[in-house]
Amino acid sequence: MTQLNWGLVGASNIAATCMIPAMRAMGGTVTSVLSSSAERGAAYAGEHGLPHSTDDLAELLAREEINAVYISTTNEKHKDQALAAIAAGKHVLCEKPLAMSVSDAVEMVRAADAAGLTFATNHHLRNAGSHLAMRKAVQAGKIGDVLAVRVFHAVYLPPHLQGWRIDNPAAGGGVIPDIVVHDADTVRFHLGEDPKSVVAIETVAGLGQGVEDSVMSTWHMPSGALVQTHEGFTIRYAGSGFELHGTEGSIFAKNVMTQRPIGEVILRTETGEEEITYSDHNLYERSLGLFTKAVAGEGEPSATGVDGVKSLAVAAAVKEAATSGQRTTVDYGGI
Ligand code: NDP
Repeated sequence: MTQLNWGLVGASNIAATCMIPAMRAMGGTVTSVLSSSAERGAAYAGEHGLPHSTDDLAELLAREEINAVYISTTNEKHKDQALAAIAAGKHVLCEKPLAMSVSDAVEMVRAADAAGLTFATNHHLRNAGSHLAMRKAVQAGKIGDVLAVRVFHAVYLPPHLQGWRIDNPAAGGGVIPDIVVHDADTVRFHLGEDPKSVVAIETVAGLGQGVEDSVMSTWHMPSGALVQTHEGFTIRYAGSGFELHGTEGSIFAKNVMTQRPIGEVILRTETGEEEITYSDHNLYERSLGLFTKAVAGEGEPSATGVDGVKSLAVAAAVKEAATSGQRTTVDYGGI
């Protein structure tokens, strides 16, 4: 098994809470962290047991022991940092949304391809045991042909995350870049097809300052299936959910749009209701395990760079539709 020695680009909350522990659990080491503030980087390194920190990306990328980079800065920085990491010969796991525009994301993916490096998107939900079990049920024909999907992903943004997400469009704030990308990836994962066109309405319901904090949209799939989604930062008590409705049955999953391996999945058919059981493994560890294998030449990451381009393309179409009031065709940037 390839040993990954990670460099962290971004002294972020997600790296601290989910990714550093998962990297270590999957046999990797975490060598260095980049922060725009040398002082904050040093404090972060100390807190998380990292031997090195820097405020200079070139210095981090020059470290030969680092063979993989995890990018979790704010969204406007992903592209330049990813291109620099690729130019330095590092494999890249990049946070969603991959970039601020579809064309930038395409450029990142093509650069990694040209360099022969593994490039992946950290869409965690498709790694959840719940979603894997639901997909297996759909593929086994348990609900027949899928006619409709409903995604409930309107939650209350925890106070410690109420920074750039709610007031900084230049950093990629707003609920559309933050959450619609995850829902787009999850719907693509289940249906195995890419949304064709979307309509959407966005609003500010209390937290957003210069960015939307709520959006509802409807997507038309090539198969004819309709997808309805609700993403928000201001809904305290709804919980999350994912429903698939087919000609022979329906799947109702509660509280599965989350970072943790929790939630309840029910299959309802002519014969009644049954619970779908699933593995409760750590979502981020599975993602990192598949990334590590991909680096070793075995299989693909759970969400590839192309998956990241496509989820961003759907989010961009939702934004365009919400802004213009027009039904918008999803432009996948030629990928
Ligand atoms: P954070 O706000 O924690 O970190 C983003 C950047 O903000 C950091 O790179 C850091 O800059 C700066 N920063 C963080 N804390 C402070 C602080 N106390 N003072 C000053 N600056 C600070 O972001 P998240 O972890 O919430 O998100 C990072 C990325 O990960 C985003 O792209 C997001 O979309 C994605 N994400 C993905 C998730 C998933 O499950 N796939 C879940 C959550 C986020 P610097 O590095 O320069 O110090």
